[in-house]
Amino acid sequence: MTTEPPKAPPLYPKTHLLAASGIAALLSLALLVFPSSDVEAKRTTLSLDLDSSSEQLTQDQDASDTPQATNDVTESPFAQIENSVDDSRKAAQAASSAETAKDPQHREVVVAKGDTLSTLFEKVGLPASTVNEVLSSDKQAKQFTQLKRDQKLEFELTPDGQLNKLHSNISDMESIALTKGAKGFTFKRITTKPVIRSAYVHGVINSSLSQSAARAGLPHSMTMDMASVFGYDIDFAQDIRQGDEFDVIYEQKVANGKVVATGNILSARFTNRGKTYTAVRYTNKQGNSSYYTADGNSMRKAFIRTPVDFARISSRFSMGRKHPILNKIRAHKGVDYAAPRGTPIKAAGDGKVLLAGRRGGYGNTVIIQHGNTYRTLYGHMQGFAKGVRTGGNVKQGQIIGYIGTTGLSTGPHLHYEFQVNGVHVDPLGRKLPMADPIAKAERTRFLQQSQPLMARMDQERATMLASAKR
Ligand SMILES: [Zn+2]
Repeated sequence: MTTEPPKAPPLYPKTHLLAASGIAALLSLALLVFPSSDVEAKRTTLSLDLDSSSEQLTQDQDASDTPQATNDVTESPFAQIENSVDDSRKAAQAASSAETAKDPQHREVVVAKGDTLSTLFEKVGLPASTVNEVLSSDKQAKQFTQLKRDQKLEFELTPDGQLNKLHSNISDMESIALTKGAKGFTFKRITTKPVIRSAYVHGVINSSLSQSAARAGLPHSMTMDMASVFGYDIDFAQDIRQGDEFDVIYEQKVANGKVVATGNILSARFTNRGKTYTAVRYTNKQGNSSYYTADGNSMRKAFIRTPVDFARISSRFSMGRKHPILNKIRAHKGVDYAAPRGTPIKAAGDGKVLLAGRRGGYGNTVIIQHGNTYRTLYGHMQGFAKGVRTGGNVKQGQIIGYIGTTGLSTGPHLHYEFQVNGVHVDPLGRKLPMADPIAKAERTRFLQQSQPLMARMDQERATMLASAKR
């Protein structure tokens, strides 16, 4: 924070104070960019069609009959979510009728408020003595008393109404069971190993990336990952426009027919302002994974363009502007990114942490040295990420801290500085050097993996468009 002689008027009269009125400014900006009355009219037919098709999918239980859902590995994530919602609805219905009536020897009860194992046993006509018998059979049988609301208990009864087997799913991947044998009940805990499959989503940006991605069915963590993958080419704080499109193939972990977690992005394509970027995940023979363009160039540049995703630039680099607190003309030798408190901040490149601590008006600050030439600084942080400490190392894209307003600051934002050989430069004005492409020796192997993924995105999108037109 070097003070410059206050001769020139501020080049950018925008101040931190403006940033402090953050939400209002952001809102009016959003309204400016996407006037709500025009949104419908400006929507491309493509996104309109897709929106309606996705709604159909979420409402239509028979959606699994549509071509894109019958496709061997891919299932629409909408259908998945809907299925799980439907399960709980069925569960709720079952709860209201207390049990299902189809097979008198198979009874199901759903745990409601105030239920205990005894009340549930009572509902299926089992006496209190059976509860005692069950609980005394095995130490672990007590797990059946740790009931959660909406948990389902399945009873198998003998023809004369005695308990033969008790079973319950305690999570998407775990179930517990008690089976009657010659020596009483035997307890068993069953863990299902999730199966990894790949899922496809396509989205068109109508408002923000997060909203459009959520509507397309992409989990939030995947949206963040996508922003990281393309973070070297696309500035997600500044460059996103209505009509931008993306396709993503990502891993889903499935257990008992339910998506329980997500894995890596396998391939993605992002069209930003008419220019299309591609990314393919590739694990080389040494076992290191990285993202490359479809033709094998690295997605990794020496530096990430923006250290905060989904932020708004509230103040640019300038040699003189009025400081909002000091009320004096001072140089602003960095870029300010306004974002909600707690938003993650990423290291712009690999490097050594020179400081992770308090630094005067900067508040909580991280300074990273990248090789001999470059240095980046991140100020006003709320706090530091786990494991980030002075003298340690960080990887490019690693979360180093969170947006805050510590030090001389009037609202939550990141103050970001970039130095080349000790001289401050405008990080937005820099041409970023590229990292290494795929090694020649691995090129064939890479293409064997990337080409089918790219072809699949084309095919999936075509199928989607075709079904949306029907
Ligand atoms: Zn600043």
